[in-house]
Amino acid sequence: MSGPRPVRAPRGTELSALGWQQEAALRMLQNNLDPEVAEHPDKLVVYGGTGKAARDWRSFDAMVRTLRTLKQDETMLVQSGRPVGVMQTHEWAPRVLIANSNLVGDWANWEEFRRLEALGLTMYGQMTAGSWIYIGTQGILQGTYETFAAVAAKKFGGTLAGTITLTAGLGGMGGAQPLAVTMNDGVAICIDCDPRAIERRIEHRFLDVKADNLEHALQLATEARDARKPLSIGLLGNAAELLPRMLAEGAPVDIVTDQTSAHDPLAYLPLGVDFDDMADYATEKPADFTQRARESMAKHVEAMVGFMDAGAEVFDYGNSIRGEAQLAGYGRAFDFPGFVPAYIRPLFCEGKGPFRWAALSGEASDIHRTDKAMLELFPENESLHRWIKMAGERVHFQGLPARICWLGQGERDKAGERFNDMVARGDLVAPLAIGRDHLDCGSVASPYRETEAMLDGSDAIADWPLLNAMVNVASGASWVSIHHGGGVGMGRSIHAGQVTVADGTKLAGEKIRRVLTNDPGMGVIRHVDAGYDIAESVAAERGVRVPMREG
Ligand code: NAD
Repeated sequence: MSGPRPVRAPRGTELSALGWQQEAALRMLQNNLDPEVAEHPDKLVVYGGTGKAARDWRSFDAMVRTLRTLKQDETMLVQSGRPVGVMQTHEWAPRVLIANSNLVGDWANWEEFRRLEALGLTMYGQMTAGSWIYIGTQGILQGTYETFAAVAAKKFGGTLAGTITLTAGLGGMGGAQPLAVTMNDGVAICIDCDPRAIERRIEHRFLDVKADNLEHALQLATEARDARKPLSIGLLGNAAELLPRMLAEGAPVDIVTDQTSAHDPLAYLPLGVDFDDMADYATEKPADFTQRARESMAKHVEAMVGFMDAGAEVFDYGNSIRGEAQLAGYGRAFDFPGFVPAYIRPLFCEGKGPFRWAALSGEASDIHRTDKAMLELFPENESLHRWIKMAGERVHFQGLPARICWLGQGERDKAGERFNDMVARGDLVAPLAIGRDHLDCGSVASPYRETEAMLDGSDAIADWPLLNAMVNVASGASWVSIHHGGGVGMGRSIHAGQVTVADGTKLAGEKIRRVLTNDPGMGVIRHVDAGYDIAESVAAERGVRVPMREG
């Protein structure tokens, strides 16, 4: 009978599918559910509240079965985590096409989504959960590291040494925050209401210590700050209670953000609710829970605004907490910016974003070899060198070994082609799956996050992620997905993903060159269209064609 069980991707070079393109999809689906990778594998939940890799265990089994027999000219169709068809296509076509959590506009809210989910008709795919390219907390680590580096550059003379960052949420994504702060030499106090989340981050060396209580956390933080020593401190509790208390007590905080699962009010612990009762309460009384969670988020955001008024650098870290606080009636929720307009947009203009690859062999040595290749390929890129070195020393692999680094248009294709050559030459034990987050330069419409405050006001235009998915299908990606509601929740985002497999064949090389040029190229043209000068010069320099700028 189909039911929860431990899942782990096969390692090595022996294929259980008919080719490496299918084998890669199979291993990456299984890898997303590896207990080392997924937050709640028994529920098929990978990360981000309830972001799932498959709708139910029967669907998971059917996908595995189908991928094992899928031919080189066939494509499996996945509708919200369930395989619904196999069509004859051709060898350039993706082996899997995925559409997750999409709803028609007027129906695109959590209430309707939950109703349909309870009927077994859909699932929440988040971003990389339902598109099988989640690589554990490392996936977000580099983006978070870059964001805190940008905060340091903007306000603290290029380093976080001597500063205290206050944040909450040590889950799949939020767990990257403590390490990203200490990599920038700062001190972080990280609140989570789940003791397991704190223990897990310590186990994976993303978090240094756990404080006994608030006073202890502040003592450890100020001592480390005064000694200009990096330190990350886990603090058990409810952020909606602790932040207002810390503000009232004048806690010496320089930077404030948050990565609780605020995008989904059923995953945010309301004030006055015990963590142990949270899951039952959310299931039994969802409307009541939602209202109390939103009211608590309003208190949480009000304290963040208070810290801003007191001079701290405050930003929303892409979890929609401002939107939820506003729904609860808090009027100043949007007084502080989202992290994309504040720090990331210039990178998006260059087609930069969270490029990543996973070693299907399961061998850490394959990743170490690709790390070396990256350093040789981009000798002039100092921040990439700093990142690869630190990641090599401090990142604990979860599941199949993988690496992430932000690369732009004109760089990703070079890396991808080099990787494919390495597979062809036998420098690596087995092929690589090369993909990215949906939080990328040209693959998402999300007015509270990636497309907040676009220069031309085009924040909610969702044609771009759809074009992105289509261009990746047309360019030869191995699997392509279109999702709704990732990151910021239902009704608030539409986004697309792609993964392309470097199996060492000439055909894979041709596909990789096109996909890894055109996919980040979407970021460049999207930002040219919105009127960004940086994107305009990048397009001119790299020959990215924009018809409205020609003739
Ligand atoms: P997760 O569900 O794995 O973890 C959320 C954590 O928040 C849990 O450990 C939970 O115990 C804790 N939490 C919930 N309510 C709390 C409260 N009131 N006080 C203290 N802790 C509380 O989610 P995740 O994958 O870590 O993602 C976190 C959020 O960040 C999501 O909203 C996600 O969409 C968003 N996100 C942002 C980015 C980005 O780049 N900025 C990327 C991905 C996801």
